[in-house]
Order: sequence, then C-alpha cells, then structure tokens
Amino acid sequence: MKQASTAGSEDRQGGWIRGMIAALAPSAPQQVIENLERALDVGGSHLPPQVFFETVEQSAIAISITDVQARVLYANRAFESVTGYPLAEIIGKNQSMLSFKTTPRSVYDAMWRTLAARQTWSGRLVNRRKDGTRYLAELSISPILDAHGKTAYFLGMHRDITAMQRLERQVQNQKTLIENVVDLAPVAFALLDERERVVLDNHEYKKLIGDLGVGEPAAHVVAALRASMGEAYDEARVSGRGFANQEIRCDRPGKRAPRWFSCSGSWFEDEDTSADAFFEPQHRSYMLLVMNEISLIKRQQEEQRLSALRSVLAEGELAQSLREAIAGAIYQLQGPINLIEAAANMLGRRGVQHDALALVGVLREAVAAGNRAMETLRGSMPAEPNEAEVPLNINELLHEVLVLLTDRLLAAGVTIEWRPAPVLAPVHGRPTQLRNVFKQLIENAIEAMNEPHRESRELRILTCPEGEAVGVYVEDTGPGIPEELRHKVFEPFFTTKRSNGGSAGMGLAMAQEIVNRHQGLIEIDARHQEGCRMHLRFPIARRSREAA
Ligand code: FAD
Repeated sequence: MKQASTAGSEDRQGGWIRGMIAALAPSAPQQVIENLERALDVGGSHLPPQVFFETVEQSAIAISITDVQARVLYANRAFESVTGYPLAEIIGKNQSMLSFKTTPRSVYDAMWRTLAARQTWSGRLVNRRKDGTRYLAELSISPILDAHGKTAYFLGMHRDITAMQRLERQVQNQKTLIENVVDLAPVAFALLDERERVVLDNHEYKKLIGDLGVGEPAAHVVAALRASMGEAYDEARVSGRGFANQEIRCDRPGKRAPRWFSCSGSWFEDEDTSADAFFEPQHRSYMLLVMNEISLIKRQQEEQRLSALRSVLAEGELAQSLREAIAGAIYQLQGPINLIEAAANMLGRRGVQHDALALVGVLREAVAAGNRAMETLRGSMPAEPNEAEVPLNINELLHEVLVLLTDRLLAAGVTIEWRPAPVLAPVHGRPTQLRNVFKQLIENAIEAMNEPHRESRELRILTCPEGEAVGVYVEDTGPGIPEELRHKVFEPFFTTKRSNGGSAGMGLAMAQEIVNRHQGLIEIDARHQEGCRMHLRFPIARRSREAA
C-alpha cells in the first residue's frame, strides 16, 4: 500500500502504515485492518507502531482517514476539537456532515475530479462545527492506493484558518484602500526601489508615460532633480530627510510646450519578507517620488515674464544701438586724433621754426579737443545693465527668445526645429546678457536666410550636455560664412552685410564678450557645410550643499 502523492523510502512507509493500523485498530472494520497489515510487506521500521499512532493522534492538525465514499474510519483528537464532534459521532459518517453548504458546488466537483485522478487536492472549504458555528478549513486530501494502484482510502488533513483569513483579508482591504487613494490622487506618485526601478505607481503617473514621451518619467525626473539639486540630492537621500517643492522643467522636442513639476521625495525602509531575512532582518530602501504638475501656473508666469521681457529687450536694444553708435563714433574719431597727435609730435621733435610753433600748438589744441570730445562720448554711453549671476536653465532662455522672436521668424518664413535636451544642468549666468546673445545669433540667422530666392529657411536649435558643460547649437540654412572670415566676424565693426541698415557689426563681438564673461566658448562649427552653425558651450554650475 502506498500514499499516492508521497514518495518515500519503504522503511518510512512501513512505519507510517503501522501507525495507521494502530490508529484504526479500535474502530475500523476488520477487513480494513487486514488490508493494511497485508500492505505492510516492506522493510520494517525500528519504531514501535504505537509511536506512529500517537504521532497522528497528537498532531495539531485535524487528521481523518475515510473510505472511498468519504465515510470517516478514523479521526484524531485535533479533528474532534476543531469540529467539536466526539469520535463516536463521526465514525462511519460522510465528511459532508462538516459542510456549511455555502462552498460552491464547482469546488467539490474539482476536488473529486482531482481525487479520481489519484492526486492530492488542496483547497479551502466553509465548514460547520457541531455547535453550528462556521469556520474556514484549509484542507488537503490524498488518496491512499492499494497494491493494485486503486484508491483504497483518503487521508484528510485540515486546520481552522478563519483568524488567519480575517487578517489576510484585512491586509488586502487596507492595501486596496491605499491603492485606491493613491490612484485617485490628483498628483503623480511613483515608488522607486534601490535601483530606481518603479515598483508602484498611480493613474496620474501612468498618464505621464504617454504624455511626456521620455521613457520612464521617474528616471527622467530623478535625472533632472540630480542635475538641479547637485550634491543636495544625495544628501537628502543619505540623511533620510528627503526634499520638497523642487521645481523641474521637462522640455520636449518640437512644438510641444515644456511641462513643469514640483517634486517631493522621501526615503523609507521596509523589512525583507523572504525566508532568509526571518532571523536576520534585512532592510530595503524605497523612495516615494511625488510629482505635482505646475505647468499651468508656470505658463501664466512665463507669459507675464515674457511681456515684461519684451519691454526690457526693446529698451536694451535701444541702449545697445546707442552704445554701438557711440562706440563707432569713438572708433572713427580715434584715427584722425591719433594722426594729428603724431604730426604734432613729429613737428615738436624736429625743432620747428618760430612760425610753425603756432601750428604745433594748434595741433595739440586739436588733439586735446578731440580727446575731450571722446571723453564726452564715452560718458554718454548708456551703462550696461548690472544684473546678478543666477543659476539658469539654458533651454528656458532659448525658448523665451524663440517665443519673443516668433513674429520675425514667421515674417521671414523660417521654420524652426527646436531640439532641447530633456534634462540640462544649470549654468551660472546673467539672464539678460545670455538672452541677448541668443537673440543676436537667431537674428543673424534670420537675416542670413531672408534673401530673395532662398528656398530653404530652416533654423535648428539644439541643446545637449557636453561633459561638464552645456552645449548649444544654432544652425541655419543660409549662405554660411566663408572660412577666411570665420575669425573676423567676431571683430568689432566687422560686417558682411551689404546694406548696413543699422548694423554696426558689433553683434558677434558683443556675443563673444558676453560668452567669455561666462567662461564659455563661441565658435563657428567648421564641420557644418550647409549654412552656418554656431556652437556655444557654458560650464555647468556646481551647486554646493543647498537646503533640500
Ligand atoms: P455530495 O453529495 O457529497 O457530492 C457532491 C458531488 O461530489 C457529487 O456531484 C459527486 O459527483 C461528487 N462526489 C461525492 N462523493 C464522491 C465520491 N466518493 N467519488 C467521486 N465523486 C464524489 N467536505 C466538506 O465540506 N468539508 C470537509 O471538511 C470535508 N473533508 C473531507 C475529507 C475527506 C478525506 C474527503 C474524502 C472528503 C471531504 N469532504 C469535505 C467532501 C465531502 O465528502 C463532500 O463531497 C462535500 O462535503 C460535498 O457534500 P454534499 O453533500 O454537498 O455533496
């Protein structure tokens, strides 16, 4: 005889069967005992049968043995205490007497199909105790086969799991409640594990996956936070203090407006639930990232800033053209004054005649008058705006300039390809000055392309991280700048424009000076052949520990 689903050594089986015989002896029919004794044709166990009987009898699990009709032949003490039935009342009765009659018929059908296939069935049934109360039984039934492989008995083992089930249900209910609350929240949540993989998110977060088009939004946001917070990000993580209200900007290619999020992050630990961690608790660290979209407010603020900027830029343009005009006049005046001074010096050194002394005097007078005039001009030069250096997002400045120049771009029929890096580290700089640089470059590009019969009029603006710097490319499809002029164009008062309407050739000189002041670089990309491509680089700002 063997238990269908349990393979063990003959020795163990023999012992097990002896135990069963001992257990059944008081109540089972003689035929059953004889069958079992015949089956005990195996290597003997060294333990007396009584040990097996007591093992089953004293087991904390409710154990029963039935015939193939599920009529009880034997039940242990735990069975009596779980069901409330004394042994005498259940021997010979069908196990169905335990049914509370609420278990779906399909469960029993599946159970009996499994047993008919001589396999062990495990599942949960709603049972009724003798006193009429119900309990949830976790049950396992195994067929015991005879020497011909036919089912001779069933071995049933069950325990009351009502309390455990209640706890499980409570935990599940709480989990569902939390998930519903998180899902309904109007902000995006993502729970990140130690490797920054999203292990839990909510509905708002899932929407971002499609909307932003940058792959995993959390990875993008964390990269942007690292770029903008610098060391403060790691400090917030290591100290466990977290961070709050960190604004990040998400730029998207093409005509899609940037999105803004106010982000908070908090780190917490939970205990590993694996068996390995049972005696040696292991902690796992998680980060809860909360992203609150503030694009609408930011767009309104941007609108207001742009209209203020328009008037600032108009004033700046006026002052700039005045500066250029005065600088041009000084430049033009300096030449003749130098000549007159040289002539006066020459005459003075030669030891001139008495009548020529008067001429030397007049020349010196002229030089002095010229210098005074130049001083007056220098004094009337409008001062450069004095603004403080702040951390800047180059994408933001370029986008603002593009918006400000939209009318001019449209009028010249120029199409724009705007390809910002989704995440850019901040640059320390003076916003108005840098805006002027970008405005100058874009205006140069418009002017270069705005000539009759030019079919292709495309302006491409691209930003990208370049090591410890931020790179900017402003590229047009105009005639380009001949190689021999590529250095000259940065000189003051140099211009290639035929109709010099208002342009004093100071634009690129001014741009270079501002870029130099920002420890940056501006050059004409020699690799580019179709039109002109300006390449600029600005070192990224290293933010020290700022409050997270
Ligand atoms: P039943 O009239 O007993 O049968 C329902 C369906 O099951 C029928 O359609 C029939 O096709 C099938 N069926 C019944 N008996 C057999 C059989 N011998 N062979 C093949 N198909 C059969 N039930 C509980 O509710 N609680 C328990 O704790 C429990 N413990 C059990 C322990 C053991 C070891 C075994 C063998 C069975 C146990 N059962 C238990 C099942 C029980 O015997 C009943 O099948 C079940 O309770 C349904 O009872 P019923 O009166 O509603 O339907």
